[in-house]
Amino acid sequence: MTEESKPAAVIDLRSDTVTRPTAEMRRAMAEAEVGDDVYGEDPTVNRLEQRAAEIFEREAALFVPTGTMGNQIAIKVHTRHGQEVICEERAHIINLESATVSAFSGCMPRAIYGEDGVLTWSQIKRKIAPKVYYRAQTGLIVLENTLNLAGGTIFPQETADEICDRAHELELPVHLDGARIFNASVAMGKSVAEISRKFDSLMFCLSKGLGAPVGSILLGSKTFIEKARAYRKAMGGGMRQSGILAAAGLVALEKMPARLKEDHDNARLLAEGLARIPGIKIDPKKAPTNILVFDISGTGMDADDFNQRLATKNVLANTIGHEQMRFVTHYDVSREDCLKTLAVVREICKAKPTTETQRHGGSSV
Ligand SMILES: *Cc1c(COP(=O)(O)O)cnc(C)c1O
Repeated sequence: MTEESKPAAVIDLRSDTVTRPTAEMRRAMAEAEVGDDVYGEDPTVNRLEQRAAEIFEREAALFVPTGTMGNQIAIKVHTRHGQEVICEERAHIINLESATVSAFSGCMPRAIYGEDGVLTWSQIKRKIAPKVYYRAQTGLIVLENTLNLAGGTIFPQETADEICDRAHELELPVHLDGARIFNASVAMGKSVAEISRKFDSLMFCLSKGLGAPVGSILLGSKTFIEKARAYRKAMGGGMRQSGILAAAGLVALEKMPARLKEDHDNARLLAEGLARIPGIKIDPKKAPTNILVFDISGTGMDADDFNQRLATKNVLANTIGHEQMRFVTHYDVSREDCLKTLAVVREICKAKPTTETQRHGGSSV
């Protein structure tokens, strides 16, 4: 579909992954110098990896097709079969990456609930397996920043630092799922290097708010990345002339972080507007970045119903629970779009909702 023929009226709040590459990215892709990356010969991929390593003040980086592959390779490198991986209950690695923690790394997730998705060391230490031969040993801790399913919440720096320090005393590695670490960085007013320094490894996405069409980056020590490169190939992620993609990634990395504040401002506008609509529950203070998770149980609709009604008015969103919705702001959503969205939500909530009996056909099961 060309730019011209796409239906202009659709406001797509499903995810920041829906952003399309900018004109500058497309030009960079067309002109990218390329080579075979499996032989380490793609100059553009090499440049992207070097720049990412520089920005994050790390020894090495690896360009991977998806954030899922980046996270799961990291888990594989850090663990052995039969170990446990500690993470928050709503973590992306166990909710939205299939059962790869167990299927690929042979590990069992040990999920803990944390307020707003934030885990503390005192919670984690109680879940670290005692060194008894019949207990599965803890192999890794994974934290997420920002935490997607908890509403783009920020992991407080001191809490993350303490977890890393205490874990390291026990020789436990800590991986950061930093898919949206640039959003965290903007909201925290700290560099991405600073907020991720104590982690043994981290992954971030070029394909979300940064707007690249494809790609994520895995970062860590030279030895870690050497092992990761082998697993990337084993998983089918050796991409040959991927400089075409890395070229867009470079533009994303250099140019796009500076505009993320706009997405946060738009999300704040949405959150404050939603909070004033009867039946909707959201605390705007708990939506510090570009993701809003809100409860619609007071509207008399369930999330599927609510979502379908939004779609008929050209607003696309995701349900993330029976009564929970998620809006994500991004490069292709303007302030104007957010105001229109609020008008649509107000309209839907005013209209008489479908009753339970109609939806479930009155059956008694
Ligand atoms: C999007 C995302 C990922 C990676 O997703 P891919 O779609 O595989 O690129 C990982 N973690 C979080 C928190 C995410 O939001």
